[in-house]
Amino acid sequence: MTTPLSLEMIRQAPKALLHDHLDGGLRPATVVDIAGQVGYDGLPTIDPDELATWFRTRSHSGSLERYLEPFSHTVAVMQTPDALHRVAAECVEDLAADNVVYAEVRFAPELHIEGGLSFDEVTEAVLAGFADGERRAAAAGREITVRCLVTAMRHAALSREIAELAIRFRDEGVVGFDIAGAEAGHPPSRHLDAFEYMRDHNARFTIHAGEAFGLPSIHEAIAFCGADRLGHGVRITDDITVDDGEVRLGRLAAILRDKRIPLELCPSSNVQTGAVASIAEHPFDLLARARLRVTVNTDNRLMSDTTMSKEMLVLADTFGYGWTDLQRFTVNAMKSAFIPFDQRVEIIEEVIKPRFAVLVG
Ligand SMILES: [Zn+2]
Repeated sequence: MTTPLSLEMIRQAPKALLHDHLDGGLRPATVVDIAGQVGYDGLPTIDPDELATWFRTRSHSGSLERYLEPFSHTVAVMQTPDALHRVAAECVEDLAADNVVYAEVRFAPELHIEGGLSFDEVTEAVLAGFADGERRAAAAGREITVRCLVTAMRHAALSREIAELAIRFRDEGVVGFDIAGAEAGHPPSRHLDAFEYMRDHNARFTIHAGEAFGLPSIHEAIAFCGADRLGHGVRITDDITVDDGEVRLGRLAAILRDKRIPLELCPSSNVQTGAVASIAEHPFDLLARARLRVTVNTDNRLMSDTTMSKEMLVLADTFGYGWTDLQRFTVNAMKSAFIPFDQRVEIIEEVIKPRFAVLVG
């Protein structure tokens, strides 16, 4: 029996993150600060601690729709180039402080044009912020690589334009595309045009599917849209049965495993949106034991009151994971990243494995 891992121990581990929303990870003090600068008076409180509590309690609501409500406040303070730059740079610093060594952070340009910015201007401000954050983190002795995914909102009709934006900025740090937002009534196949555009340009994308909605959403994402990864995908368990300890996969679950489709699992968020009842009932461990390609993610660090280390800790506490397991999930994530193969291998071999070796040793 090994000693259980503590939060402090897990903080030391190198981490790779594939699913993190820029507008879901602001520092509460920054929200208050920018709101003051831009004259946004819609915040429920201007005390940063009270605001942090407000976000947390509002988001832990058991429904995806209500979980998404508090985003109106973070989005409201992300409408100028300066604000976007600052939020993006701080995001990188916060991830680096948690020893995240690689992250793909996503945001939806269409939510940040209320101040008159174009999609390109929004994207340029965020990418410049990421680059600045990388420099500041490196100066503080923490190397981190952050790349960007642009997201289209699934209830809107801008996905093709956002896909084109992704391709325009592909050499500038945008490594992929995604669709997000309330799942029910907005099937991924409505955005087929955007996914075809991405495939036509040999580019990668992920789709939020199988979070609030079940197998049909996952089937569409894989079979019709050709998603490279699934955002959440937890409901794939509806296609998995356990008989006398023997795990049996249906055809959809089997194709996810056969094709090594990564699942961007976000344990705390899944509980808060009601996708699963509790961490103990989270299918993470079942999916890991069934050898699907599971990865650990934060989703929204502010709303879910979490970090990569906290997500790893809650899984380690609940399912008894040790360093070997956490390393496997981290390597899974790095293998599934949208940067080129040689760069993925380099981070795995030269950063992740050596740093885990020190921890294990
Ligand atoms: Zn998400």
